[in-house]
Amino acid sequence: MSVTRQTFDQHMVPNYQPAEIIPVRGQGSRWWDQAGREYVDLAGGIAVTSLGHAHPALVDALTHQAQQLWHLSNVMTNEPALRLARLLTTHTFADRVFFCNSGAEANEAALKLARRYGNLRAPGKHRIIACVNSFHGRTLFTVTVGGQPKYTHGFEPLPPQIDHVPYNDLPALEAAMGPDVCAFIVEPIQGEGGVMPAAPGYLEAAAALCRQHQALLIFDEVQTGNGRTGGLYAYQQAGVVPDVLTTAKGMGGGFPIGAMLTTEALAATLSVGTHGSTYGGNPLGCAVAEAVLTEVLSEALMQNVADRHQQLVAGLEALGSRFGLWTGVRGQGLLLGAPLVAAWQGKAGQLAAAALRHGVWVLVAGPDVLRFAPALNITAADVDEGLQRLGTACAAVLGDTA
Ligand SMILES: *Cc1c(COP(=O)(O)O)cnc(C)c1O
Repeated sequence: MSVTRQTFDQHMVPNYQPAEIIPVRGQGSRWWDQAGREYVDLAGGIAVTSLGHAHPALVDALTHQAQQLWHLSNVMTNEPALRLARLLTTHTFADRVFFCNSGAEANEAALKLARRYGNLRAPGKHRIIACVNSFHGRTLFTVTVGGQPKYTHGFEPLPPQIDHVPYNDLPALEAAMGPDVCAFIVEPIQGEGGVMPAAPGYLEAAAALCRQHQALLIFDEVQTGNGRTGGLYAYQQAGVVPDVLTTAKGMGGGFPIGAMLTTEALAATLSVGTHGSTYGGNPLGCAVAEAVLTEVLSEALMQNVADRHQQLVAGLEALGSRFGLWTGVRGQGLLLGAPLVAAWQGKAGQLAAAALRHGVWVLVAGPDVLRFAPALNITAADVDEGLQRLGTACAAVLGDTA
């Protein structure tokens, strides 16, 4: 029996509003819907499919592991998890890794670590500072830390002792800091919040404030990590080392996996029995992530991110001046945002829907920004074709509204 978009409306919780079309197959940066129509993918499954669809190295890693071992639980460890942990600690500041299944879970682990660190240090040292308009996941704890009231409304009572300061506002952060703060959590580039990069010097100054107050600096690299910004993790390009780093999204290239990275000393905070996850570090996810990160660590792939960044920025700027829907492009590597002009504020969704109708998938980051997060290995030809289809969509939208 066939399934259609109507099946969604009949059988699934209405917390999502998916597109009418249903994709069934993908290859590289193209995918096809039930009707056989082809789309250029400039969205990357929201910064997740870091090597595109059906990448042979990932298919190999997954199918090989599928024939070996699927699950034992954390009563046992397993070879893929150990190899992945060694890989991550070799190439980052971290000495220790905790594996989980999503970005929210990685942040949940980081925030729990921070609370326990604070409580062990001094009574009442448990306040968490986060940024307005940030995004850290949808568990009750992480969504509260996220600081977007539209996502917490109706879910009260919310976890206490979480304060928000405007992003890139150092005086506000300084004023919010104190001896009772256990952590400041921040995205090196706010992803969902509009592809907003940290201002020069902001992360360094935040790190200094954290040191001064013995608070942990947590970088949420769920979206910026794993090659997205043109290096393994964005902190390495920013030159500011956090105490704790969380990541997920692109780490598994589409297979659910997340991780929290930290130092030897801080890892001891989560002693035996303090935290856990049934699927965290499962062999399938770790085998795929090992293959993803091995690719990301290749110079050729990071060169492609730099080259496609140039191409996409130039193309988007050209479309911006031709159609006047956006001015300028911001972001880093292959995480880019085009903020819409005043007359188009609130209409990012309408533009993205028009793009999809014209055969190119792009994202929004809030109502006022178009977002692009294609596969890190997207080809020049696919970027060109995507830009061309986006141009056709812009023309159609302007024709429609003229
Ligand atoms: C997507 C995202 C999350 C949440 O990840 P999930 O896997 O959806 O739980 C957290 N932080 C940032 C910065 C994100 O972009």
